[in-house]
Amino acid sequence: MKNIVIFGAPGAGKGTQSDFIVERYGLTHISTGDLLRREIADKTELGLRIKDIMDAGQLVSDDIVVEMIDNAIARDDKGILFDGFPRNVAQAEILDQLLQKHGRTLTCMIRLDVPREELIRRMLERAKVSGRSDDNEETIKNRLVEYENKTLPVASYYAKQNKEVKINGLGDIKRISEDIANAIETL
Ligand code: AMP
Repeated sequence: MKNIVIFGAPGAGKGTQSDFIVERYGLTHISTGDLLRREIADKTELGLRIKDIMDAGQLVSDDIVVEMIDNAIARDDKGILFDGFPRNVAQAEILDQLLQKHGRTLTCMIRLDVPREELIRRMLERAKVSGRSDDNEETIKNRLVEYENKTLPVASYYAKQNKEVKINGLGDIKRISEDIANAIETL
């Protein structure tokens, strides 16, 4: 059973490549961003608590996402693609513990590398159609700062475990998917 983390800055193409990976390997797609947006759309008590934080482009507290991930692993029997999680080293450590608790290990972390200027260009482009309240210029900058300060160290965490797989996230979408498949299949 494969359990994979897809990693990269906002705008790196995680959503697009997640669709490919879950289809190809029959995995369950767990996107913490999607789960959190659902809470907001449903106006749950949690949704009301996190809306302002997400609109500001900041990370919500670890407890909230960790509980979501724990429940998702408990319910799953196919293997999981984690998208948007872990977002900091504490979450990465907790993911290792949660996987172990459920008798699993992480197969690898797929890291999509895209230069900053291209990330900003893509996110501004997406803002025109996404309807996401955090796709605006101010929030995009905050999200990139959160990524650089808190999320990027997660890459070194997995590199130390020899689980980091680097993929060039610039260029043709199909070529990127093929690079990912080749990497997963030669692990
Ligand atoms: P995403 O859709 O992955 O870009 O996430 C959108 C927003 O949801 C982020 O800017 C955070 O506010 C929040 N979020 C998503 N995943 C996490 C996570 N693992 N930890 C903390 N906040 C998260």
